[in-house]
Amino acid sequence: MLEIRHKRIVKTRKEQTCYACEDSIEKGSHVIYVTAKQDDKHHNVHLHLECNKEMSKRKIAMTKGCLHNVKQMPTVAPMLDSDLPF
Ligand SMILES: [Zn+2]
Repeated sequence: MLEIRHKRIVKTRKEQTCYACEDSIEKGSHVIYVTAKQDDKHHNVHLHLECNKEMSKRKIAMTKGCLHNVKQMPTVAPMLDSDLPF
């Protein structure tokens, strides 16, 4: 898990990948730029504004791809329901 040091809003100058959902971030869009530390190594990652909000709303610890699975949940749940034997 990353230890977050700073967060700020930046405008991307090139295409980036969102650390939380692993989708691409278009160049020129506003994102959260996170300065973090893990095992005494510095990491700088980008997050979609929505992903940053989603993580604080759901109190998810920031790990690589942590919202990748979360985003799948709404589409998976109805399928499980229809698989019920009654
Ligand atoms: Zn994202």
